[in-house]
Amino acid sequence: MDNSHPASPSAFGRAYVFDMDGTIYLGDRLLPGVRRTIGELRRRGIPVRFLSNNPTKDPQQYVEKLETLGLPTGIDDICNTVVTTTRWLKEHHTDATVFAIAEEPLRRALSEAGIRQSEDPEEIDIVIASYDRTFDYRKLQIAFDAIWFHKRAFLIQTNPDRFCPFPGGRGEPDCAAITAAIEACTNTTCRVNLGKPSPIMIQESLRGADVALEDCVMVGDRLQTDIQMALDTGMRSACVLTGEATAEDVAALDDTHRPTWTIDRLDRLIPSSVWEELGWAETDD
Ligand SMILES: [Mg+2]
Repeated sequence: MDNSHPASPSAFGRAYVFDMDGTIYLGDRLLPGVRRTIGELRRRGIPVRFLSNNPTKDPQQYVEKLETLGLPTGIDDICNTVVTTTRWLKEHHTDATVFAIAEEPLRRALSEAGIRQSEDPEEIDIVIASYDRTFDYRKLQIAFDAIWFHKRAFLIQTNPDRFCPFPGGRGEPDCAAITAAIEACTNTTCRVNLGKPSPIMIQESLRGADVALEDCVMVGDRLQTDIQMALDTGMRSACVLTGEATAEDVAALDDTHRPTWTIDRLDRLIPSSVWEELGWAETDD
């Protein structure tokens, strides 16, 4: 990195929100400097939260994954779109009957939260598009009938991602493909997005932390979701170059879209004065 531009913060934030994939881990590997960064923040009593737009996993599955990677984390510190979608429905449409085009984790969370689900288009109030690898014509027909024929339901989505990237360059079609299929046949527009970059995601993740967003730091590897969400909510942000975004991507942004800091590894979040105090070296993990 170019050392003529100081790239790291000189003080700690009041709370940190981390994207997971490409920021904390890549596949089944913890990224360099992650363990000691999270350890140091926790040692100082600074709230640390983890986010994912992926609705195909329970928060519990992230607890297990982080534990396996040597980063034990409580379930309340993890927020994904299973959590945001369920809580948003509970708060705003508690009596609605929903049709969730979704895999088991979201459908299970909805029923545990007491949200009524139906496949009968005549009684569906809300169609939920999500990342659903069991999506088929039957589900599309139910959504179409509920929204277009019965003119009753409206459409929301768990997350706006077009595809979910895999290590090695492949990927899977994500929620945006399913939202687009429903929008195309019903000539309707998705009303609410419950994943990044929606501010709903950041508010839910910091629930209970009692901190002002402008005092918190959002850390992630994707400019259009992680960093955009920080910009939209007045948070400071760090783009870590261990996942999707490259230094060239960041350099190409205009000032209004640029993250506060661009870092090559996560432990640059820790101020350099603390590196000295702790005797950290670049080569350590
Ligand atoms: Mg990511």
